[in-house]
Amino acid sequence: PVELAGLETRFGALVVHQGLDLEVRRGEALGIVGGSGSGKSVLLSVISLLKAPHAGRLKLFGEEVDMAMSESRLMPLRRRLGVMFQQGALFSSLTVLENVMLPLTEHTRLPALLIEEFARLKIALVGLPREAAQRYPRELSGGMLKRAAVARALALDPELLLLDEPSAGLDPVSAAELDALFNTLRQALGLTLILVTHDLDSLFTVTDRVAYLGQGRVLEVASARDLTESHEPEIARYFGNARA
Ligand code: ATP
Ligand code: MG
Repeated sequence: PVELAGLETRFGALVVHQGLDLEVRRGEALGIVGGSGSGKSVLLSVISLLKAPHAGRLKLFGEEVDMAMSESRLMPLRRRLGVMFQQGALFSSLTVLENVMLPLTEHTRLPALLIEEFARLKIALVGLPREAAQRYPRELSGGMLKRAAVARALALDPELLLLDEPSAGLDPVSAAELDALFNTLRQALGLTLILVTHDLDSLFTVTDRVAYLGQGRVLEVASARDLTESHEPEIARYFGNARA
């Protein structure tokens, strides 16, 4: 569902991506790793059509995307993907239920009662107890917060789910449970996943392939096992550090 070729992304004079090629296959779970500042989060912004690249080609769901396209053409593409941002905070003034309802309220014209039912379904799907729906984010544990954010990302039934360091800040048990949830969702919904993570366990338990981002490009794509054993100096250094 995603094809990137020769992608170049900049912030003013800062070049984040240059000559980046990447293909994400339908139904796969693709991991993305790379040092801090290598452009992983920005890459997710480009794929989710929130940040316009400077140059290059982007195909989403088989359609050539030009960020100069009208909102009325970008919006239907955006709706087909769900994003859990790195700072993926829920709105603190809204309950979990209200947070999950929000995308449905904004992007559909479904009756309020149905929107609530759909949102409750998503909350159940991510393994949160029923009572969690009425709670405010500050009343949830770290692991529950992440699940709620996943539920919100799933609100519009995306085909592609983008996750930016979802298990960051979680204890190992909660992190493993979250990974199990991603595997379950993938099997149950046939989702395509893009998972940005620094967590080796997540790479091995969730992903089919992993792309290493460095020097503004994808330096290598391989299975988690092969990538962690890569002889490319920068990649070897990355995993050497990651293990230390
Ligand atoms: P981390 O592992 O720390 O999350 P990352 O790989 O996700 O790092 P990005 O957030 O994608 O890194 O940032 C890539 C580069 O782009 C960094 O140099 C960052 O400072 C810069 N950058 C990101 N967002 C902006 C912005 N809105 N304006 C200016 N520069 C930005
Ligand atoms: Mg990031």
